[in-house]
Amino acid sequence: MKHEDWRQTVLGPASPIWASRPDVGMALCVTWPSGSPDVVAARTSVLDLIKGPTMRSPTWRPCIGIVHVVPPPNPIPLDTVYVGAGLNQGLPRPSAWAALHETPRSGSLAGFVRVSLDTRADADQWLQPLCGKILCCDCCSTDCPAEVLRDAVLARSRLSQPSPADCPLRDASQLEDSTCLDNEPHHECDDAPFKPALSKGPDTRGVSPGALPAWPHSWTALVHRIRAAPCRVFWEIFAGTAGMSRAFQNDGWAVGRPLDVADCEDFNMLNPLFVGVILGIINEGRIGLLWLGPPCSTFSMAVNRFPSHAMRSQDLPSGLPDLTAVQQEKVDLGNALAMTAVIFMQAQHHAHGFFIWEQPASSLMLRYEPATAFFSKVGAYQAVRDVCVDGAPWRKPTAFVSNHCRIYAAAATCRGGHDHITLAGKAPCGKIGRHSLHRIGQPCAVT
Ligand SMILES: [Zn+2]
Ligand SMILES: [Zn+2]
Repeated sequence: MKHEDWRQTVLGPASPIWASRPDVGMALCVTWPSGSPDVVAARTSVLDLIKGPTMRSPTWRPCIGIVHVVPPPNPIPLDTVYVGAGLNQGLPRPSAWAALHETPRSGSLAGFVRVSLDTRADADQWLQPLCGKILCCDCCSTDCPAEVLRDAVLARSRLSQPSPADCPLRDASQLEDSTCLDNEPHHECDDAPFKPALSKGPDTRGVSPGALPAWPHSWTALVHRIRAAPCRVFWEIFAGTAGMSRAFQNDGWAVGRPLDVADCEDFNMLNPLFVGVILGIINEGRIGLLWLGPPCSTFSMAVNRFPSHAMRSQDLPSGLPDLTAVQQEKVDLGNALAMTAVIFMQAQHHAHGFFIWEQPASSLMLRYEPATAFFSKVGAYQAVRDVCVDGAPWRKPTAFVSNHCRIYAAAATCRGGHDHITLAGKAPCGKIGRHSLHRIGQPCAVT
């Protein structure tokens, strides 16, 4: 018997279930997937949407040639790509192939390009826009960066002659194993102090080729794991103990490695190179739901409630004037991290993905101008949930802001019937009470 006939027998108008157990009948109606061709087609198209754009490996075509023009033409012709550093007056800003380059003390722009080719996990994506284009360079050097780029594209186009055995997902299971969530140590304390390591991490500026440490393995593994996922992933940034990542993984989502600098010092959100890596992944459209819980410390009312300690206020969420040097440093660090989170959120929105921004409801970060300006521009939705509803010992209302209206389902107020611990002094950063929240982002059930 066909699925739909069977369903008709059990749930059709003539079924005895409507006389004996109408409640069971109703439950079956909404939970039993229909085999009707229209519904099957609709379900398939919804699943395709969730999976996002098809991610095929790129095709390679050699560059057409190189032109040297000083200063470069403005505007740049359509079939031409400017690859210079934007050092000539009146012209272009640094191109994506020289954007992190500064006038080198040692080495050259071409050296920078060679180093980038050796160390960037996204080198292929970086080179792709140059395929079949004329490269426009203004380097005035015998060691021309455009020639290095052209040769790299040419080498890839020679290598990419069809090879039917190629399967980009072959190594995915190994990657998944080596970076499995359950094998990773997580800090017990969610409120681990944030230790920025501005001087740490690779710096590719002005270094001659060969003198540079490679991109840390942790970054490469991070990129590979997300690219190996068969569908768009859940990704938690400023993850703390990564409770959301575990919850979403248990719910069947593909999950990116949760990022927290307390977990691994390579994941420093103040390292522009690492921020670039994250933005690259987001811009590829691989993130279905981005969860951001930037540390609230200096934005917290636990600090700012007392005039003697206040660093921010409702009216001046970006920082009060006349702070001490130590306070100013803390405020600048808080602002820098909040701004980084805003940039990730904007990128995710533009990549047609969903984000959730988590903060204690009283946190002044919810009034931080770059965040509020973006929220009102895109019409974000906000829900507040008392975390005692999920079993936390304190009430701690926590705000969730999202570009997905279903965030409203997360709103909940304490109904009483239990005691609350009063939070004094340093408050935990709203990362308790995640147990049921992971359901928000689930795709709608289709019947
Ligand atoms: Zn050149
Ligand atoms: Zn309560």
